[in-house]
Amino acid sequence: MTRQRMTNDRGKAALERLRRIKPFIQASLNITKKRCGNPQCRCSQEGSIHEVALLTWKEEKRTRTLYVPIELRQEVKRWVQEGKLLKHLAAELSQAQREFLTSKKKRRKSNKS
Ligand SMILES: [Zn+2]
Repeated sequence: MTRQRMTNDRGKAALERLRRIKPFIQASLNITKKRCGNPQCRCSQEGSIHEVALLTWKEEKRTRTLYVPIELRQEVKRWVQEGKLLKHLAAELSQAQREFLTSKKKRRKSNKS
């Protein structure tokens, strides 16, 4: 049975990439500096010198943050990139489906006349 293709070339390309999606997260990764709190550390004199990676995202209009351990920083960066790609692909497929509907409408109209 051949299934009718319910999308166009643009949608097909977006779907193919969506099928290969890897773990993702919809958040942003920010690197900031802070003091560790140890009075013996040179940061007590020099100020915020310790790099920390924080994941931030919005949840019910509130900004939430989560500490990311250094060994997972690169990995989490990939999740964030994949999350952006997913958002882009969702918009791309939505656009493709709108175009698909528009082309059907035009075709039907031209068949009648
Ligand atoms: Zn310190």
